[in-house]
Amino acid sequence: MLKITALRALKDNYIWLLRNRGNRKVAIVDPGEAEPVEKALAADNLKLAAILITHHHYDHVDGIAALVANHDIPVYGPVNEPIPALTHPVKEGKRIRLDRIGAKFLVLDIPGHTAGHVGYYGHGLLLCGDTLFTAGCGKIFDGTAQQLFHSLQKIAALPDETLIYCAHEYTEENLIFASMVEPANSAIVQRLVKICQLRNKGATTIPSTLAEEKQTNPFLRCDIAEVIRATEQFADHPLNSPEEVFVTLRHWRDSPNKPIHC
Ligand code: ZN
Ligand code: FE
Repeated sequence: MLKITALRALKDNYIWLLRNRGNRKVAIVDPGEAEPVEKALAADNLKLAAILITHHHYDHVDGIAALVANHDIPVYGPVNEPIPALTHPVKEGKRIRLDRIGAKFLVLDIPGHTAGHVGYYGHGLLLCGDTLFTAGCGKIFDGTAQQLFHSLQKIAALPDETLIYCAHEYTEENLIFASMVEPANSAIVQRLVKICQLRNKGATTIPSTLAEEKQTNPFLRCDIAEVIRATEQFADHPLNSPEEVFVTLRHWRDSPNKPIHC
């Protein structure tokens, strides 16, 4: 059974540490810095055996150089992005076997936040970087909102019980925005209460399940009447497809009408 531990990094990033019971060799995902990784390895006498990268942003790759200088390990990452020390370029459909860790993943192309962003799917979970966030989704940098819409549709087609491991702690502010979009959605209110309790304890709010996201994440609900109505009200004109709703919703999320923390 693959166990995942959250290592906090930078302001609000998570570096996920993957480990099988009884095995001291581990993989990590998106090391934005090396220090939290080295500390976790030393604390539990673990050995770093692989790095997985979802996209090229500094808060996901800046720890790679120091880690590969200390550990002789492969670095998996998207073929079409500039990833430091990349040894195993991957893209859609590639199956990767991390034999030393006892893990296998299928690579999914999930562009939009960046143009070459990938995710890793396996063991009932998805490592999705900055594509799908808990109760939200990534901003558009060098990809397009249309690409991001199709990437989220691809993720939505995975089994409902899939665990969503994204790379930032944004659940609370995302849910506040979600509740602006759908004030009458009681699943959002309930989730917000639960998440505020976790945050007050200093606990992580990740992972969620895909089922939970489908009930509370407006970016996965662009075909729901209430989301369409609210987004049309923001746009002040009719929106003719879920994709148009998504693009406008993403724009709304970025607008100065920012949600505030609870
Ligand atoms: Zn990013
Ligand atoms: Fe990021």
